[in-house]
Amino acid sequence: ERQMLGRLRRLPARLSSGEVVTLQANLEIPAELPMIAQSGAGGIGLLRSEFLFMNAETLPDELHQEAVYLPLIEAMAGDPVTIRVVDWGSEKNSDALSRAGIGESGDTNPALGVRGIRLLLQHRGLLETQFAAILRAARAGPVRVMLPLVSSVGELRAARDIYARIGRRLRRKGVEIPDPLPPLGIMIETPAAALMADVLAQEAEFLAIGTNDLTMYTLAADRAATDVAALYDPFHPAVLQLVRMTADAALRHRRPVSLCGEMASDPIAVPLLVGLGIRSFSMHASAVPRVKRAIRALAMDDCRRMACRALEAADGREVSTMLMDYAAAAR
Ligand code: PEP
Ligand code: MG
Repeated sequence: ERQMLGRLRRLPARLSSGEVVTLQANLEIPAELPMIAQSGAGGIGLLRSEFLFMNAETLPDELHQEAVYLPLIEAMAGDPVTIRVVDWGSEKNSDALSRAGIGESGDTNPALGVRGIRLLLQHRGLLETQFAAILRAARAGPVRVMLPLVSSVGELRAARDIYARIGRRLRRKGVEIPDPLPPLGIMIETPAAALMADVLAQEAEFLAIGTNDLTMYTLAADRAATDVAALYDPFHPAVLQLVRMTADAALRHRRPVSLCGEMASDPIAVPLLVGLGIRSFSMHASAVPRVKRAIRALAMDDCRRMACRALEAADGREVSTMLMDYAAAAR
């Protein structure tokens, strides 16, 4: 089994019917880099930059951040790296941010409070520093910049203005940065963003679906709470409808779309997601070989058929049963 997964590394993630799928890795801490390089992933689809702020005494400045990003981008040797600006708030915690008086809102519902892009637009210095560091590091290879937890186009516009301004400022200083600036995209992880994907896709240069949060917000079930774990179901047809809407909008506006929630690492889920129109996945590096193996066994017709059935299903259980039956029959 291990040997076979090892051999898969050099094989393309291609369906038996010919369509090619992109598989990338999520990075949570830099120590995962060797595993990512080993996995056969074609780049980093989600660099969660929260690690920069964890166990940190002070806020990481522009040059410190640049020095962290540079080797990660270089190590990908020309494969793209999608850096998500810090997604703080909700259940995540940081000493450095607390000490700077950031993210201690006392919201009664932290998941519905100031987190993600909301926090960054309230503390613009954080966003400016991170944009500048990413732009400096972008000389090392292809980079994309991603905004977390967007719920309205105004947030994208405000962040984009800051991004453009930081780009101009660096150029004025004589810093060598890519022209045009690296693509600026957004995560789709609120029902509002999925429902408005058509509008957002006009202005965001790429979309990435975060099914961990999208599931939580759609079903009003905390992703971390065990007492509602049975309600938290990414196969719920309501979640799948939103994935479908997002994929359709991206296709209409010719924007790249990927999916980077935990769901992407589940070989059972992959035929469904491909059928819903997703051709790019980002997941923990350890999942890349088995997802690739699942993809190589798939035919597009089956994927489409399953997606249609799933969208018409009455609940998530019906969908998982269908997917498990399909996986068992294929074995
Ligand atoms: C998600 O919400 O699906 C996601 C990928 O972001 P995170 O898990 O970091 O919130
Ligand atoms: Mg998220």
